[in-house]
Amino acid sequence: MQDYTNVSVLIVGAGPAGLAAAIALKKQKPDLDVAVIDKAAGPGNHNLSGAVLEAAALSKLLDPVVPNWAESEDAKAVLLSKVDRDDVMFFWGSRMAFKIEAAIKMAKAFRLAFGQMTHRGDYICSVSKLTGWLCKTAVSLGVEVLHGFAAEDILWDADRHIAAGVKLKDQGLDKHGQKQLNYLPGEVIRAKTILIAEGCDGLLAETFTAKAGLVRQSNQLYSLGVKELIRVSDAQYAKFGSGRVVHAMGWPLWTPLVGPAMFGGGIMYPMGNNHIAVGMIVGLDYKYCDFNPQDALTRFKEHAFVRQFIDGGTVVEAGAKMIPEGGLYAVPRCPDTQTIGRSNVMLLGDSAGFVNMCKIKGLHNAIESGIAAAGAVADGLDTPKGLARIYTKRLEEAGVIKEMETAKNFRQTVARFGPLQGMPLSVLGGWLPTFNIEPDYQTMMPAAYRLKPPVTFDKDTFTAVAATEHREEQPCHLTLRDETICTEKCVGKFGAPCITFCPAGVYERIHDQPKPANPSNCLHCKTCQRKCPFDNIRWTVPEPNGGPQYKTM
Ligand code: SF4
Ligand code: SF4
Repeated sequence: MQDYTNVSVLIVGAGPAGLAAAIALKKQKPDLDVAVIDKAAGPGNHNLSGAVLEAAALSKLLDPVVPNWAESEDAKAVLLSKVDRDDVMFFWGSRMAFKIEAAIKMAKAFRLAFGQMTHRGDYICSVSKLTGWLCKTAVSLGVEVLHGFAAEDILWDADRHIAAGVKLKDQGLDKHGQKQLNYLPGEVIRAKTILIAEGCDGLLAETFTAKAGLVRQSNQLYSLGVKELIRVSDAQYAKFGSGRVVHAMGWPLWTPLVGPAMFGGGIMYPMGNNHIAVGMIVGLDYKYCDFNPQDALTRFKEHAFVRQFIDGGTVVEAGAKMIPEGGLYAVPRCPDTQTIGRSNVMLLGDSAGFVNMCKIKGLHNAIESGIAAAGAVADGLDTPKGLARIYTKRLEEAGVIKEMETAKNFRQTVARFGPLQGMPLSVLGGWLPTFNIEPDYQTMMPAAYRLKPPVTFDKDTFTAVAATEHREEQPCHLTLRDETICTEKCVGKFGAPCITFCPAGVYERIHDQPKPANPSNCLHCKTCQRKCPFDNIRWTVPEPNGGPQYKTM
């Protein structure tokens, strides 16, 4: 590429959706100039997921550019094993565990949405490694993948309803916003077409959604996933099994008879080389002001079923990331045309919210959305104003919208009725009315989580193994709209929950004032942007090359 500041197609976000779009585009238009930018320092550094992958979309993407892709060395390193044992479990208290396979089978037989929660035949993978592989493939096809480029704003012409490009973040400012010797103004990358694929709750997607007037039928709901990679003994790893996935509902998030009542559950996957991934996903509509999803992870790891496999193990990597759970009703659309994007800008993957919570999966939809966007660009390169329309049609043809349709009420039903009643009710799926659920930050109450572990979670070690860092001298990327809200309203009522829920210990009280005191620890999970009970925190884009450096998450 001669000039990366002026391209035909600009893809923001080098994750599975963005890179799938780049690869699929090059398959159809080898001479087209395609650039992908990402704020992370290297491939996969900011990508974290469960992850269990339905491989059909990947196969469609890689065929024929990676001949016999499933047998390639890259596939063997990335797709760790095929799921041959699929344990969906219910934890009753801290000791008892039983499988609910029969309930899943019955739901499947009656074609109820809950029956989608099966994983047999899927691949267990590391999404950071998958991203690295896709990045390598894209580069081999001639895509310009530029890491260390953080998009800050979109140049949107509100009169013509078209985007002209993306503005990058300035670099080299000091803590007070003054230019240092290494100051570098954020460039503008001009592009005929922009694909936004920056992951969950990205600032560019939200800025574009507001500027282009897209609307959601229902508020987006989020969960936070916290995950650890634990090295265990040979005997423990062999006992767990290489093709087995565990998804566990119930304790410590909810029990059938008494609270607490939160949506979510624990996960366990084998990751090769005696490593087991252990994670906890918690819906951010939880109400407990002293709760932290890492506390639930601690309790999950203490459960007798889990403990047998990880006791004495060493945490070698960890991380946290939000998941967009709101489903089809929370996908931003153009109010006139119902397109997912507008004119020459399209929203892909988690930027749109293509996660199917009945499956607890979104990777396959992210890749499909990349392929659909590439098809739209290839079809309509000369008529950029119509690209979002072609893209939305292609998403329908690829089955993404149909699949999202099957789960469209699941999360809202659980949010409205709570997991105890909502999970059983959710089997009615699309027959239920649409609920407009309040945003996650409004659900907090001055209530205590009664299963809090006696020992405080070690966030320092968690962030150390996430290898997160930022240039210390830059302006803080987290701001409080009004500091007096913290001291006058929040501390007394809720006890400053940001200090508790931030998985990286970024927030602290300094002379009684809660503040983002340690921004260089930030994991870019965005939880504080969605869970501060007074919506008082604004997350802005930090300088590029900062943040976590995930390798096997
Ligand atoms: Fe409370 Fe939000 Fe202030 Fe933290 S930032 S103390 S959660 S109002
Ligand atoms: Fe997540 Fe916010 Fe904490 Fe950063 S500061 S790790 S975005 S909760």
